[in-house]
Amino acid sequence: MSPEEFRRFGRQVVDWIADYYAGIESHPVRSQVRPGQVRAQLPAHPPERGEPFEQVLRDLDAVLMPGVTHWQHPNFFAYFPANATGPAILGDLLSSGLGVQGMVWATSPACTELETVVVDWLAELLGLPEHFRTDAAGGGVIQDSASSAALVAALAALHRASGGRVAREGITRRHTLYVSAHTHSSLERAARMVGVGADNVRVVDVDPATLGMDPAHLAALIAEDLAAGAVPTMVCATVGTTSTTAIDPVRAIGEVCRARGVWLHVDAAYAGVAAVCPELRWINDGVAEFADSYCTNPHKWLLTNFDCSVLWMADRAPMIDALSILPEYLRNPATTSGEVIDYRDWQVPLGRRFRSLKLWSVLRWYGAEGLREHIRGTIGLAQEFASWVRDDPRFELLEPHPFALVCFRPRFPELSTEEADERIFAIMESLNESGELYLTHTKVDGRMLLRVAIGSPQTEQRHVRAAWKRIQEAFTA
Ligand code: PLP
Repeated sequence: MSPEEFRRFGRQVVDWIADYYAGIESHPVRSQVRPGQVRAQLPAHPPERGEPFEQVLRDLDAVLMPGVTHWQHPNFFAYFPANATGPAILGDLLSSGLGVQGMVWATSPACTELETVVVDWLAELLGLPEHFRTDAAGGGVIQDSASSAALVAALAALHRASGGRVAREGITRRHTLYVSAHTHSSLERAARMVGVGADNVRVVDVDPATLGMDPAHLAALIAEDLAAGAVPTMVCATVGTTSTTAIDPVRAIGEVCRARGVWLHVDAAYAGVAAVCPELRWINDGVAEFADSYCTNPHKWLLTNFDCSVLWMADRAPMIDALSILPEYLRNPATTSGEVIDYRDWQVPLGRRFRSLKLWSVLRWYGAEGLREHIRGTIGLAQEFASWVRDDPRFELLEPHPFALVCFRPRFPELSTEEADERIFAIMESLNESGELYLTHTKVDGRMLLRVAIGSPQTEQRHVRAAWKRIQEAFTA
Protein backbone atom coordinates (compact mmCIF):
# COMPACT_ATOMS: atom_id res chain seq x y z
CA MET A 1 0.00 0.00 0.00
CA SER A 2 1.58 3.27 -1.09
CA PRO A 3 1.47 6.34 1.16
CA GLU A 4 -1.18 7.85 -1.15
CA GLU A 5 -3.32 4.72 -1.00
CA PHE A 6 -2.86 4.65 2.77
CA ARG A 7 -4.04 8.26 2.98
CA ARG A 8 -7.15 7.44 0.93
CA PHE A 9 -8.12 4.28 2.81
CA GLY A 10 -7.04 5.73 6.13
CA ARG A 11 -9.52 8.57 5.64
CA GLN A 12 -12.21 6.02 4.83
CA VAL A 13 -11.40 4.08 7.99
CA VAL A 14 -11.45 7.19 10.18
CA ASP A 15 -14.78 8.19 8.62
CA TRP A 16 -16.07 4.68 9.21
CA ILE A 17 -15.16 4.89 12.89
CA ALA A 18 -16.66 8.37 13.27
CA ASP A 19 -19.90 7.16 11.61
CA TYR A 20 -19.88 4.10 13.86
CA TYR A 21 -19.85 6.25 16.98
CA ALA A 22 -22.41 8.68 15.58
CA GLY A 23 -24.81 5.80 14.88
CA ILE A 24 -23.88 3.40 17.63
CA GLU A 25 -27.36 3.37 19.14
CA SER A 26 -28.77 1.80 15.99
CA HIS A 27 -27.03 -1.51 16.79
CA PRO A 28 -28.29 -4.22 19.14
CA VAL A 29 -25.97 -4.03 22.15
CA ARG A 30 -25.16 -7.73 22.30
CA SER A 31 -24.48 -9.45 19.01
CA GLN A 32 -27.38 -11.60 17.90
CA VAL A 33 -25.48 -14.05 15.70
CA ARG A 34 -25.57 -17.80 16.28
CA PRO A 35 -22.35 -19.73 16.97
CA GLY A 36 -20.47 -20.29 13.70
CA GLN A 37 -22.51 -17.72 11.74
CA VAL A 38 -19.65 -15.29 11.16
CA ARG A 39 -17.16 -18.00 10.30
CA ALA A 40 -19.53 -19.64 7.82
CA GLN A 41 -19.58 -16.43 5.80
CA LEU A 42 -15.82 -16.17 5.54
CA PRO A 43 -13.73 -18.04 2.97
CA ALA A 44 -12.11 -21.19 4.33
CA HIS A 45 -8.86 -20.41 2.52
CA PRO A 46 -6.73 -17.26 2.33
CA PRO A 47 -6.74 -15.25 -0.93
CA GLU A 48 -4.07 -16.12 -3.46
CA ARG A 49 -4.18 -12.62 -4.96
CA GLY A 50 -4.34 -9.37 -3.03
CA GLU A 51 -7.77 -7.73 -2.85
CA PRO A 52 -8.80 -4.08 -2.90
CA PHE A 53 -9.14 -2.60 0.58
CA GLU A 54 -12.73 -1.59 -0.21
CA GLN A 55 -13.61 -5.28 -0.09
CA VAL A 56 -12.24 -5.57 3.42
CA LEU A 57 -14.44 -2.65 4.47
CA ARG A 58 -17.41 -4.16 2.67
CA ASP A 59 -17.01 -7.49 4.50
CA LEU A 60 -16.54 -5.61 7.77
CA ASP A 61 -20.03 -4.16 7.31
CA ALA A 62 -21.73 -7.20 5.84
CA VAL A 63 -20.12 -10.11 7.67
CA LEU A 64 -18.37 -8.92 10.81
CA MET A 65 -20.59 -6.14 12.15
CA PRO A 66 -23.54 -8.43 12.92
CA GLY A 67 -21.10 -10.45 15.03
CA VAL A 68 -19.85 -7.47 17.02
CA THR A 69 -21.05 -6.78 20.54
CA HIS A 70 -21.05 -3.04 21.04
CA TRP A 71 -19.02 -2.34 24.15
CA GLN A 72 -19.18 1.40 23.52
CA HIS A 73 -22.98 1.41 23.23
CA PRO A 74 -24.58 3.67 25.87
CA ASN A 75 -26.76 0.72 26.96
CA PHE A 76 -23.80 -1.60 27.55
CA PHE A 77 -23.98 -2.29 31.27
CA ALA A 78 -22.34 -5.72 31.24
CA TYR A 79 -19.04 -6.72 32.90
CA PHE A 80 -16.86 -3.69 33.61
CA PRO A 81 -16.52 -1.07 30.87
CA ALA A 82 -13.75 -1.17 28.28
CA ASN A 83 -13.75 2.52 27.43
CA ALA A 84 -12.65 3.54 23.95
CA THR A 85 -12.34 7.22 23.12
CA GLY A 86 -11.21 9.42 20.25
CA PRO A 87 -7.84 10.43 21.73
CA ALA A 88 -7.04 6.83 22.70
CA ILE A 89 -8.00 5.50 19.26
CA LEU A 90 -5.82 8.15 17.61
CA GLY A 91 -2.94 7.49 19.99
CA ASP A 92 -3.17 3.79 19.19
CA LEU A 93 -3.28 4.54 15.47
CA LEU A 94 -0.09 6.56 15.82
CA SER A 95 1.48 3.66 17.68
CA SER A 96 0.49 1.28 14.86
CA GLY A 97 1.72 3.79 12.32
CA LEU A 98 5.11 4.06 13.90
CA GLY A 99 5.31 0.29 14.19
CA VAL A 100 7.84 0.57 16.98
CA GLN A 101 8.84 -2.46 19.00
CA GLY A 102 10.20 -0.99 22.22
CA MET A 103 11.65 -4.03 23.94
CA VAL A 104 14.73 -2.15 25.13
CA TRP A 105 15.48 1.55 25.42
CA ALA A 106 17.75 1.50 22.35
CA THR A 107 15.05 0.07 20.06
CA SER A 108 13.13 3.33 20.49
CA PRO A 109 14.13 5.64 23.31
CA ALA A 110 10.91 7.67 23.07
CA CYS A 111 8.82 4.54 23.60
CA THR A 112 10.55 3.88 26.92
CA GLU A 113 10.88 7.45 28.10
CA LEU A 114 7.30 8.46 27.30
CA GLU A 115 6.10 5.39 29.19
CA THR A 116 8.15 6.40 32.23
CA VAL A 117 6.66 9.89 32.15
CA VAL A 118 3.11 8.69 31.65
CA VAL A 119 3.11 6.06 34.42
CA ASP A 120 4.64 8.62 36.78
CA TRP A 121 1.96 11.12 35.76
CA LEU A 122 -0.73 8.55 36.41
CA ALA A 123 0.74 7.70 39.82
CA GLU A 124 0.55 11.40 40.66
CA LEU A 125 -3.01 11.71 39.35
CA LEU A 126 -4.10 8.76 41.50
CA GLY A 127 -2.27 10.00 44.59
CA LEU A 128 -0.11 6.86 44.71
CA PRO A 129 2.95 7.00 46.94
CA GLU A 130 6.22 8.68 45.93
CA HIS A 131 8.13 5.41 46.17
CA PHE A 132 6.09 4.05 43.22
CA ARG A 133 7.75 6.67 41.00
CA THR A 134 10.54 5.74 38.64
CA ASP A 135 13.04 8.11 40.24
CA ALA A 136 12.54 6.30 43.54
CA ALA A 137 13.02 2.57 44.18
CA GLY A 138 9.81 1.56 42.46
CA GLY A 139 8.33 2.44 39.11
CA GLY A 140 5.39 1.68 36.87
CA VAL A 141 5.07 -0.20 33.62
CA ILE A 142 2.27 -0.71 31.13
CA GLN A 143 1.17 -4.33 30.81
CA ASP A 144 -1.38 -5.81 28.46
CA SER A 145 -3.69 -6.79 31.30
CA ALA A 146 -4.16 -7.05 35.04
CA SER A 147 -3.66 -10.79 34.59
CA SER A 148 -0.14 -10.21 33.28
CA ALA A 149 0.45 -7.73 36.10
CA ALA A 150 -0.55 -10.41 38.63
CA LEU A 151 1.82 -12.88 36.99
CA VAL A 152 4.72 -10.43 37.11
CA ALA A 153 3.92 -9.59 40.75
CA ALA A 154 3.83 -13.32 41.62
CA LEU A 155 7.21 -13.88 39.91
CA ALA A 156 8.73 -10.98 41.86
CA ALA A 157 7.18 -12.22 45.10
CA LEU A 158 8.54 -15.73 44.56
CA HIS A 159 11.93 -14.29 43.78
CA ARG A 160 11.97 -12.31 47.01
CA ALA A 161 10.55 -15.12 49.14
CA SER A 162 13.11 -17.63 47.86
CA GLY A 163 16.07 -15.26 48.06
CA GLY A 164 16.41 -15.63 44.28
CA ARG A 165 16.65 -19.44 44.38
CA VAL A 166 13.48 -20.04 42.36
CA ALA A 167 15.04 -18.48 39.25
CA ARG A 168 17.90 -20.99 39.39
CA GLU A 169 16.49 -24.14 40.95
CA GLY A 170 12.77 -23.86 40.33
CA ILE A 171 10.33 -24.34 43.16
CA THR A 172 11.84 -26.55 45.82
CA ARG A 173 9.59 -25.61 48.76
CA ARG A 174 5.89 -25.25 49.28
CA HIS A 175 5.07 -21.62 48.47
CA THR A 176 1.58 -20.37 49.32
CA LEU A 177 -0.53 -17.55 47.91
CA TYR A 178 -3.59 -15.97 49.56
CA VAL A 179 -6.79 -14.77 47.95
CA SER A 180 -10.45 -14.54 48.92
CA ALA A 181 -13.36 -16.21 47.14
CA HIS A 182 -13.93 -12.82 45.46
CA THR A 183 -10.38 -12.37 44.14
CA HIS A 184 -10.15 -12.41 40.35
CA SER A 185 -9.36 -15.82 38.83
CA SER A 186 -6.21 -14.36 37.24
CA LEU A 187 -4.49 -14.77 40.62
CA GLU A 188 -5.07 -18.51 40.70
CA ARG A 189 -3.92 -18.66 37.09
CA ALA A 190 -0.77 -16.74 38.06
CA ALA A 191 -0.17 -19.28 40.85
CA ARG A 192 -0.52 -22.13 38.37
CA MET A 193 1.75 -20.43 35.85
CA VAL A 194 4.56 -19.70 38.29
CA GLY A 195 4.41 -23.29 39.56
CA VAL A 196 3.00 -22.59 43.02
CA GLY A 197 0.01 -24.74 42.07
CA ALA A 198 -3.70 -24.24 42.67
CA ASP A 199 -3.58 -26.42 45.81
CA ASN A 200 -1.34 -23.83 47.43
CA VAL A 201 -3.73 -21.00 46.75
CA ARG A 202 -5.34 -20.46 50.14
CA VAL A 203 -8.81 -18.97 50.18
CA VAL A 204 -9.25 -16.49 53.02
CA ASP A 205 -12.76 -15.94 54.44
CA VAL A 206 -14.57 -12.69 53.78
CA ASP A 207 -16.55 -10.54 56.16
CA PRO A 208 -20.15 -11.39 55.17
CA ALA A 209 -21.23 -7.77 55.60
CA THR A 210 -18.60 -6.14 53.37
CA LEU A 211 -17.37 -9.12 51.32
CA GLY A 212 -13.85 -7.86 52.09
CA MET A 213 -11.07 -10.28 53.07
CA ASP A 214 -10.90 -11.12 56.78
CA PRO A 215 -7.38 -10.17 58.01
CA ALA A 216 -7.71 -12.34 61.14
CA HIS A 217 -8.39 -15.42 59.06
CA LEU A 218 -5.52 -14.45 56.76
CA ALA A 219 -3.18 -14.28 59.76
CA ALA A 220 -4.43 -17.66 60.97
CA LEU A 221 -3.87 -19.32 57.58
CA ILE A 222 -0.37 -17.85 57.28
CA ALA A 223 0.50 -19.05 60.80
CA GLU A 224 -0.83 -22.52 59.96
CA ASP A 225 1.18 -22.68 56.75
CA LEU A 226 4.35 -21.48 58.44
CA ALA A 227 3.92 -24.14 61.11
CA ALA A 228 3.59 -26.73 58.35
CA GLY A 229 6.89 -25.57 56.81
CA ALA A 230 5.42 -23.64 53.88
CA VAL A 231 6.68 -20.28 52.61
CA PRO A 232 3.80 -17.76 52.56
CA THR A 233 4.72 -15.81 49.44
CA MET A 234 2.03 -13.42 48.26
CA VAL A 235 -1.32 -12.04 49.34
CA CYS A 236 -3.63 -10.39 46.82
CA ALA A 237 -5.91 -7.70 48.21
CA THR A 238 -8.54 -6.37 45.84
CA VAL A 239 -9.83 -2.82 45.66
CA GLY A 240 -13.09 -3.28 43.76
CA THR A 241 -13.80 -6.98 43.26
CA THR A 242 -15.11 -8.19 39.92
CA SER A 243 -18.33 -9.54 41.32
CA THR A 244 -19.55 -6.64 43.46
CA THR A 245 -16.70 -4.04 43.77
CA ALA A 246 -16.06 -5.00 47.39
CA ILE A 247 -12.91 -3.52 48.92
CA ASP A 248 -10.49 -5.64 50.92
CA PRO A 249 -9.10 -3.88 54.01
CA VAL A 250 -5.66 -3.24 52.54
CA ARG A 251 -4.19 -1.63 55.65
CA ALA A 252 -5.11 -4.49 58.01
CA ILE A 253 -4.05 -7.07 55.41
CA GLY A 254 -0.81 -5.14 54.92
CA GLU A 255 -0.04 -5.29 58.62
CA VAL A 256 -0.38 -9.07 58.54
CA CYS A 257 1.86 -9.26 55.45
CA ARG A 258 4.48 -6.95 56.96
CA ALA A 259 4.68 -8.98 60.17
CA ARG A 260 5.41 -12.15 58.15
CA GLY A 261 7.42 -10.64 55.27
CA VAL A 262 4.75 -11.65 52.73
CA TRP A 263 4.44 -9.76 49.43
CA LEU A 264 1.24 -7.69 49.15
CA HIS A 265 -0.17 -7.26 45.66
CA VAL A 266 -3.12 -4.90 45.34
CA ASP A 267 -5.42 -5.61 42.43
CA ALA A 268 -7.39 -2.45 41.69
CA ALA A 269 -7.92 -3.36 38.04
CA TYR A 270 -11.34 -1.73 37.76
CA ALA A 271 -11.66 0.66 40.68
CA GLY A 272 -8.14 2.04 41.11
CA VAL A 273 -8.62 4.75 38.50
CA ALA A 274 -11.41 6.24 40.65
CA ALA A 275 -8.62 7.70 42.78
CA VAL A 276 -8.22 10.49 40.20
CA CYS A 277 -10.95 12.03 42.36
CA PRO A 278 -9.42 13.15 45.68
CA GLU A 279 -12.66 12.34 47.51
CA LEU A 280 -12.21 8.66 46.50
CA ARG A 281 -8.57 8.26 47.54
CA TRP A 282 -9.74 6.50 50.71
CA ILE A 283 -10.07 3.35 48.60
CA ASN A 284 -6.28 3.08 48.63
CA ASP A 285 -5.90 3.36 52.39
CA GLY A 286 -2.84 1.33 53.36
CA VAL A 287 -1.40 1.10 49.83
CA ALA A 288 1.34 3.67 50.52
CA GLU A 289 2.52 1.89 53.65
CA PHE A 290 2.10 -1.76 52.69
CA ALA A 291 1.68 -2.54 48.97
CA ASP A 292 4.63 -4.17 47.23
CA SER A 293 2.82 -3.98 43.92
CA TYR A 294 -0.34 -2.28 42.68
CA CYS A 295 -2.26 -2.57 39.46
CA THR A 296 -5.06 -0.64 37.81
CA ASN A 297 -6.42 -0.72 34.26
CA PRO A 298 -6.91 2.56 32.38
CA HIS A 299 -8.38 0.23 29.71
CA LYS A 300 -11.43 -0.38 31.83
CA TRP A 301 -12.84 2.86 33.17
CA LEU A 302 -10.25 5.52 32.31
CA LEU A 303 -11.13 6.25 28.70
CA THR A 304 -8.19 4.34 27.23
CA ASN A 305 -8.64 1.60 24.64
CA PHE A 306 -7.73 -1.95 25.53
CA ASP A 307 -4.96 -2.86 26.21
CA CYS A 308 -3.45 -0.69 28.93
CA SER A 309 -2.96 -1.95 32.46
CA VAL A 310 -0.44 -0.24 34.73
CA LEU A 311 1.58 -2.15 37.32
CA TRP A 312 3.60 -0.28 39.92
CA MET A 313 6.23 -1.71 42.21
CA ALA A 314 7.36 -0.30 45.55
CA ASP A 315 10.77 -1.80 44.81
CA ARG A 316 11.47 -2.83 41.23
CA ALA A 317 14.57 -4.88 42.05
CA PRO A 318 12.94 -8.29 42.77
CA MET A 319 10.94 -8.09 39.52
CA ILE A 320 13.98 -7.18 37.43
CA ASP A 321 16.13 -9.79 39.13
CA ALA A 322 13.44 -12.40 38.52
CA LEU A 323 13.03 -11.61 34.83
CA SER A 324 16.27 -10.17 33.51
CA ILE A 325 18.43 -12.19 31.13
CA LEU A 326 20.81 -10.49 28.71
CA PRO A 327 21.41 -12.63 25.64
CA GLU A 328 24.21 -11.51 23.32
CA TYR A 329 21.81 -10.39 20.58
CA LEU A 330 20.24 -7.81 22.92
CA ARG A 331 23.49 -6.43 24.30
CA ASN A 332 23.88 -2.73 23.50
CA PRO A 333 25.82 0.19 25.00
CA ALA A 334 22.75 1.85 26.59
CA THR A 335 21.73 -1.32 28.42
CA THR A 336 25.24 -2.04 29.65
CA SER A 337 25.66 1.56 30.80
CA GLY A 338 22.88 0.95 33.33
CA GLU A 339 21.57 4.45 32.60
CA VAL A 340 18.36 3.37 30.91
CA ILE A 341 15.26 1.32 31.61
CA ASP A 342 14.64 -1.78 29.51
CA TYR A 343 10.98 -2.52 30.11
CA ARG A 344 11.38 -6.03 28.66
CA ASP A 345 12.61 -6.93 32.16
CA TRP A 346 9.36 -5.69 33.68
CA GLN A 347 7.01 -8.01 31.78
CA VAL A 348 6.64 -11.56 30.42
CA PRO A 349 7.02 -11.01 26.65
CA LEU A 350 10.14 -9.54 25.12
CA GLY A 351 8.42 -7.34 22.54
CA ARG A 352 6.27 -4.38 23.46
CA ARG A 353 4.02 -1.92 21.69
CA PHE A 354 4.18 1.85 22.06
CA ARG A 355 1.15 1.74 24.37
CA SER A 356 2.04 4.89 26.27
CA LEU A 357 1.04 6.95 23.19
CA LYS A 358 -2.64 6.26 23.76
CA LEU A 359 -2.50 6.89 27.50
CA TRP A 360 -0.51 10.09 26.90
CA SER A 361 -3.06 11.16 24.35
CA VAL A 362 -5.92 10.49 26.82
CA LEU A 363 -4.24 12.29 29.73
CA ARG A 364 -3.49 15.32 27.58
CA TRP A 365 -6.89 15.49 25.87
CA TYR A 366 -8.99 15.17 29.02
CA GLY A 367 -6.61 16.59 31.60
CA ALA A 368 -7.10 15.66 35.25
CA GLU A 369 -10.35 17.65 35.25
CA GLY A 370 -11.84 15.68 32.37
CA LEU A 371 -10.88 12.35 33.90
CA ARG A 372 -12.50 13.32 37.20
CA GLU A 373 -15.61 14.47 35.39
CA HIS A 374 -15.91 11.07 33.69
CA ILE A 375 -15.48 9.11 36.93
CA ARG A 376 -17.81 11.37 38.91
CA GLY A 377 -20.38 11.41 36.12
CA THR A 378 -20.57 7.63 35.80
CA ILE A 379 -20.62 7.15 39.58
CA GLY A 380 -23.40 9.75 39.78
CA LEU A 381 -25.50 7.83 37.24
CA ALA A 382 -24.90 4.56 39.11
CA GLN A 383 -25.90 6.12 42.43
CA GLU A 384 -29.07 7.44 40.84
CA PHE A 385 -29.83 3.99 39.44
CA ALA A 386 -29.21 2.47 42.89
CA SER A 387 -31.64 4.94 44.46
CA TRP A 388 -34.38 3.83 42.03
CA VAL A 389 -33.71 0.17 42.90
CA ARG A 390 -33.78 1.01 46.63
CA ASP A 391 -37.10 2.77 46.25
CA ASP A 392 -38.79 -0.16 44.51
CA PRO A 393 -39.89 -2.83 47.01
CA ARG A 394 -39.94 -5.44 44.24
CA PHE A 395 -36.12 -5.38 44.23
CA GLU A 396 -33.40 -5.66 46.85
CA LEU A 397 -30.18 -3.69 46.54
CA LEU A 398 -26.72 -4.84 47.55
CA GLU A 399 -24.98 -2.20 49.69
CA PRO A 400 -22.47 -0.63 49.50
CA HIS A 401 -21.84 0.35 45.88
CA PRO A 402 -19.15 3.03 46.01
CA PHE A 403 -18.24 2.96 42.31
CA ALA A 404 -20.31 2.67 39.14
CA LEU A 405 -21.51 -0.92 39.56
CA VAL A 406 -24.88 -1.66 41.09
CA CYS A 407 -25.82 -5.21 42.15
CA PHE A 408 -29.44 -6.04 42.89
CA ARG A 409 -31.93 -8.85 42.95
CA PRO A 410 -35.56 -8.96 41.89
CA ARG A 411 -37.71 -10.45 44.67
CA PHE A 412 -39.77 -13.53 43.89
CA PRO A 413 -41.15 -14.35 47.36
CA GLU A 414 -43.25 -17.24 46.04
CA LEU A 415 -40.21 -19.06 44.60
CA SER A 416 -37.34 -20.97 46.22
CA THR A 417 -33.85 -19.47 45.82
CA GLU A 418 -33.04 -21.92 43.01
CA GLU A 419 -36.29 -21.27 41.20
CA ALA A 420 -35.85 -17.51 41.59
CA ASP A 421 -32.28 -17.75 40.27
CA GLU A 422 -33.49 -19.63 37.21
CA ARG A 423 -36.22 -17.08 36.61
CA ILE A 424 -33.78 -14.17 37.01
CA PHE A 425 -31.28 -15.74 34.64
CA ALA A 426 -33.94 -16.48 32.00
CA ILE A 427 -35.35 -12.95 32.12
CA MET A 428 -31.88 -11.42 32.01
CA GLU A 429 -31.10 -13.51 28.93
CA SER A 430 -34.29 -12.37 27.22
CA LEU A 431 -33.36 -8.75 27.93
CA ASN A 432 -29.88 -9.31 26.55
CA GLU A 433 -31.28 -11.09 23.50
CA SER A 434 -33.53 -8.11 22.79
CA GLY A 435 -30.42 -6.07 21.98
CA GLU A 436 -31.82 -3.09 23.88
CA LEU A 437 -29.39 -3.37 26.77
CA TYR A 438 -26.80 -5.75 28.10
CA LEU A 439 -26.31 -6.71 31.74
CA THR A 440 -24.66 -9.60 33.57
CA HIS A 441 -25.09 -11.50 36.80
CA THR A 442 -23.04 -12.85 39.67
CA LYS A 443 -23.63 -15.06 42.67
CA VAL A 444 -23.07 -13.99 46.26
CA ASP A 445 -23.78 -16.42 49.10
CA GLY A 446 -25.38 -18.78 46.61
CA ARG A 447 -27.91 -16.16 45.39
CA MET A 448 -27.96 -14.63 41.97
CA LEU A 449 -27.55 -10.88 41.64
CA LEU A 450 -27.87 -8.73 38.55
CA ARG A 451 -25.01 -6.38 37.76
CA VAL A 452 -25.44 -3.03 36.04
CA ALA A 453 -22.07 -1.42 35.37
CA ILE A 454 -22.18 2.13 34.08
CA GLY A 455 -18.99 3.46 32.57
CA SER A 456 -19.28 4.53 28.99
CA PRO A 457 -18.79 8.23 28.16
CA GLN A 458 -21.71 7.66 25.76
CA THR A 459 -24.13 6.81 28.58
CA GLU A 460 -26.45 9.62 29.65
CA GLN A 461 -29.14 9.75 32.29
CA ARG A 462 -31.83 9.04 29.68
CA HIS A 463 -30.16 5.70 28.86
CA VAL A 464 -29.97 4.66 32.50
CA ARG A 465 -33.57 5.69 33.10
CA ALA A 466 -34.77 3.74 30.06
CA ALA A 467 -32.75 0.70 31.15
CA TRP A 468 -34.32 0.78 34.62
CA LYS A 469 -37.81 1.03 33.13
CA ARG A 470 -37.08 -1.95 30.87
CA ILE A 471 -35.70 -3.96 33.79
CA GLN A 472 -38.70 -3.12 35.97
CA GLU A 473 -41.11 -4.18 33.23
CA ALA A 474 -39.25 -7.40 32.50
CA PHE A 475 -38.93 -8.59 36.09
CA THR A 476 -42.32 -7.56 37.38
CA ALA A 477 -44.51 -8.53 34.40
N1 PLP B 1 -8.83 -8.03 38.52
C1 PLP B 1 -10.06 -7.55 38.64
C2 PLP B 1 -10.53 -7.04 39.98
C3 PLP B 1 -10.93 -7.52 37.54
O1 PLP B 1 -12.17 -7.07 37.68
C4 PLP B 1 -10.47 -8.00 36.29
C5 PLP B 1 -11.33 -7.99 35.11
O2 PLP B 1 -12.46 -7.58 35.13
C6 PLP B 1 -9.15 -8.48 36.21
C7 PLP B 1 -8.37 -8.49 37.35
C8 PLP B 1 -8.59 -9.00 34.94
O3 PLP B 1 -8.34 -7.94 34.09
P1 PLP B 1 -7.56 -8.14 32.71
O4 PLP B 1 -8.60 -8.45 31.69
O5 PLP B 1 -6.88 -6.82 32.48
O6 PLP B 1 -6.59 -9.26 32.89
